[in-house]
Amino acid sequence: MKRLIKGGTAVTPEGAVAADVLIEDGKIAAIGENLAAGSPDAEIIDAGGKILFPGFIDPHTHLEMTVAAGRTADDFATGTAAALAGGTTTVLDFAGQDKGVTLTQTLKDWHQKADGKSSCDYGFHIGLAEWNDETKKELREMPDEGISSVKLYMAYDALMLDDAQIFETLRLADELGMTVSAHCENGLVIDELIEKYRKEGCLTPKYHPLSRPAAMEAEAVNRFLAIAEQTGSTVYVVHLSTQRGLRACLDAKERGQKLYIETCPQYLCLDDSCYDLPDFESAKYVFAPPARKVPDQKAIRQAIFDGIIDTAGSDHCSFDFGSMKQKGRDDFSKIPNGIPGVETRPQLMFTETYAGLEGGLSYEDFSDLMSANAAKIYGMYPQKGALAPGSDADIVIWDPDWTGEITHDALHMNVDYSPYEGYPVRGRADEVLLHGETAYKDGAFVKKNAGHYVRRQTKQA
Ligand SMILES: [Zn+2]
Repeated sequence: MKRLIKGGTAVTPEGAVAADVLIEDGKIAAIGENLAAGSPDAEIIDAGGKILFPGFIDPHTHLEMTVAAGRTADDFATGTAAALAGGTTTVLDFAGQDKGVTLTQTLKDWHQKADGKSSCDYGFHIGLAEWNDETKKELREMPDEGISSVKLYMAYDALMLDDAQIFETLRLADELGMTVSAHCENGLVIDELIEKYRKEGCLTPKYHPLSRPAAMEAEAVNRFLAIAEQTGSTVYVVHLSTQRGLRACLDAKERGQKLYIETCPQYLCLDDSCYDLPDFESAKYVFAPPARKVPDQKAIRQAIFDGIIDTAGSDHCSFDFGSMKQKGRDDFSKIPNGIPGVETRPQLMFTETYAGLEGGLSYEDFSDLMSANAAKIYGMYPQKGALAPGSDADIVIWDPDWTGEITHDALHMNVDYSPYEGYPVRGRADEVLLHGETAYKDGAFVKKNAGHYVRRQTKQA
């Protein structure tokens, strides 16, 4: 079946152009002016006045993940449908190993969670919780499974690797052509700070950000990058949230290191005043790294404008306020960390960075931030991340002029609140195509469960 999107501005790798986009068999067949003449049998989609972006890619989600307090509210069925509604056509989820569980089993588990239930395309980063002869052996098998990236943690008792293990992981990942991303917070000091506050009887959510200070992000970023300097690795820093952490990244860049930086909408839209809300409301904002100070927000936004930050992940990790977050009512350290965001990420990022703002991003730069860069870094470009002939016809028809506000009622994530309730936003996905077919249009799902697993290429391949 042929479909022709007419009248829009297509954001292609060569720039944003007024052009028609012809789709055939789920792929983009051609982009150009007046393509209708050559394809009279095509179904026409009118995109007059709208922007056509390559489907957005969320490189950072946690769907159907189990933590000490229980399971996340969104599984792959609800999370990927919500992603689609926001304009995201591919998510990269963390298939995170639990200690004692093999990587092979972990990957199998994640396929079981996602296969046949996902409404957008998906891939997995393999997440390490330990480093031993078995994980080393198994990591070698991951590229054949379509996995091109490894995630490690420098915080959380159950997950964190030590410096020697990080060094070894980087060395092996390099050999395999895999990209290593890290959660950079100094977990040992954070654990001490949490214990200190608990002993002092400081148990409200207000102490969550105080126990995870900016310095502990900056220290871990610096350490991760210093280790990567020794191995010569190009690494990826997830969810950068502070000015100090950014400075550590810039120092590494000045030394000549190559690295990728991700931030998240919460570090642009929220600041630490959310921890002053009364009546345990601030538990809605317990995520890690926490919301930071206004100067941090400004620095992160400027780094996006300056092209220093490469990607924007949602770090979607949803827990119901009415049940899960309540588990920490008497002790902030028991509040499960995470907020919903897979659906609102494109709209929030557009609002915070659009061209109408001083220094704001062009459509081309926004497209790189939200789609192309993640596709390139994680080995799926130009199948994903490009409006170009031969690429998957994952396309967002975006209304850049729409304005409104975020309300939980209008969202599709399976969680009982939005941390952005009432937040004024600009732009929205009017229609979202996955593999050339309309999957979401004008607020309603047209096609669900059509998501495929995306096999990604290592740098070696
Ligand atoms: Zn995360």
